[in-house]
Amino acid sequence: MHFLFPLSTMSKTIIAGPCSVESRDQLLSITRSLSRIPQVSLIRAGVWKPRTRPGAFEGLGAVALSWMQELASEYHVNYCCEVARPEHIDLCLQHGINTVWIGARTTTNPFMVDELCSALRGTNMAVLVKNPVCPDTQLWLGAIERLEAASIHNITAIHRGFNLYNNRGYRNAPMWEAALELRRQRPDLPVLCDPSHMGGRRDLVTPLSLIAMQLDYDGLMVEVHPSPDQAWSDAAQQLTPLQFASLLDILPPAHNAHSDYPALLPLREQIDTIDHELLNLLAKRMAVSRRIADVKRQANIPVYQPRRWQAVIADRLSQAGKLGLDTSFTKQLLDKIHTESVRIQLQPPTPLTPNPTNPT
Ligand code: PEP
Ligand code: MN
Repeated sequence: MHFLFPLSTMSKTIIAGPCSVESRDQLLSITRSLSRIPQVSLIRAGVWKPRTRPGAFEGLGAVALSWMQELASEYHVNYCCEVARPEHIDLCLQHGINTVWIGARTTTNPFMVDELCSALRGTNMAVLVKNPVCPDTQLWLGAIERLEAASIHNITAIHRGFNLYNNRGYRNAPMWEAALELRRQRPDLPVLCDPSHMGGRRDLVTPLSLIAMQLDYDGLMVEVHPSPDQAWSDAAQQLTPLQFASLLDILPPAHNAHSDYPALLPLREQIDTIDHELLNLLAKRMAVSRRIADVKRQANIPVYQPRRWQAVIADRLSQAGKLGLDTSFTKQLLDKIHTESVRIQLQPPTPLTPNPTNPT
């Protein structure tokens, strides 16, 4: 087992382990199984469990940490667990735990993140930051930036899905596009996928992991339990070590994302040319918007013409349908173009250069 932070592009970081530590025997059993799987970089094991409803199992606390400390040196493994309060961080440090994660419920709360940052400052801990419960990428980024301001630089984001009113059959619906926004803004940050809390069901873990690999996530955090059906928390979503090993077997081989596969090159050239054409056309369209703005100004016609816009949308969506383009994508694209056109038309006209020979 190796401890792999920061990540390299050539290998995936695989974190696996039970939702919660339940007993020394359970931890020993899962540690034995996972220590034999070379791809596993870290064992996850919840010690303090944030439960949505009171009365559920809330974790064993510090005693679990003492088992983790003992087994870490016996099996040469590294563990990580969730922290939600400053004293959790102190206890982790006392027990040799150097990687922690901030759970979805905590990422949501800047006050709590700030308190954790104060406890983390000056430590050398690696911190995994789960996305907040609600689909707010700024909140997710905010937690990461707070950690950075506290001089924590070994940070990895984890996409564990979002709690929406309609979760489409998932426990926490994946929003790949929200995570993509984070990855666009922070290409330097590794991002893992947690298919267990996304799916909430054992049978969804593999398909979600495969999507994450297609999206070039840097790795996975998967819940694995010696006997999932008997688990004290999240029984429905945990895999047996055998099921987990089968999942690892079918993951596509790690590759260098930047390698130029020969058959891609001519297609990428076509994409480059088409993008340049699209930008030229957009520039032409905006130039026409400027001329329209002049005409409207002279005729005292308002910039925003809802009826004309509805007609434009209807016409373009019908064309898009015939061309096989996705309706929602086309609508979003046209709305963006229209917003920019309105912005341009609202700009004051370029002032005429005053004629110095004819002062007014
Ligand atoms: C967990 O990983 O055990 C957990 C509670 O996750 P989340 O914060 O994503 O709900
Ligand atoms: Mn869990």
